[in-house]
Amino acid sequence: MEHGHSSRVQTFIGDPLSDTPEVPRAQLEEIFADIQGDMRFNHELNGCLNCGICTATCPAAHYYDFSPREIVQLLWTENLEGIYDAMQEKIWSCAQCYTCAARCPFENSPGGLIMIMRETAIKHGMESAKNVLRPFSRVMLKLVSTGNQLAPDMITADGFADWGPNISKVQAPLKILRKAIPMPTLNTTETAWEVNLKTSVELYTIWEMTGVLNQLETIDENLFDVISDIMDEKKQDYQDFVDEQAEADA
Ligand code: SF4
Ligand code: SF4
Repeated sequence: MEHGHSSRVQTFIGDPLSDTPEVPRAQLEEIFADIQGDMRFNHELNGCLNCGICTATCPAAHYYDFSPREIVQLLWTENLEGIYDAMQEKIWSCAQCYTCAARCPFENSPGGLIMIMRETAIKHGMESAKNVLRPFSRVMLKLVSTGNQLAPDMITADGFADWGPNISKVQAPLKILRKAIPMPTLNTTETAWEVNLKTSVELYTIWEMTGVLNQLETIDENLFDVISDIMDEKKQDYQDFVDEQAEADA
């Protein structure tokens, strides 16, 4: 039988079960190099028996098409296409509870490996990361601009449609309820609690130095611009305060 000149060896061997479009090999290698190059990687992955104990104890595996065993096997066998495919949806199912890490006989941390994969997805600006994080942009803005996250007056039926009828439980006279809480720092519905200017500026420095803001810029440039403006303003306010104190002490 004549086979002509075409090679029977595929230049790209994709995952036959995946709907994800084929990705150039060089890109897959770059993504895996970033995961494997993370300083936590060798600590979190020591081998894998494929025993499935992690999946048996994983709460997310009960509700989603998701298995930490599968993720660890993809990494352990360096299945680059499978790793890329898992980064399109599955890695975002993990609840980061680390039950798996407590149970694995190899002392692996599937949850920790998934965290590295998530950070790599953000670094590469993957659509999956943008889609997963988009609904949290208001919370992120609140967290970065005030130093704390969900404020009571942000919990509304429109904002949390996925809560269904349970949302009615929080549609109460929040201001009155908050006043009933004894700690004065909680007597607000606009923020979760008050964070002072110095602490805010220290938090900004941590987010800058740890690369959090760079990650934010990759996945949502508009949000990054808004937050940068708020940060600059607060830093200036704090510097003015420090200068005033220095003048008063002089
Ligand atoms: S990661 Fe650990 S618990 Fe999970 S399948 Fe591998 S060896 Fe078993
Ligand atoms: S950390 Fe993630 S993978 Fe591990 S048990 Fe919890 S939800 Fe499952």
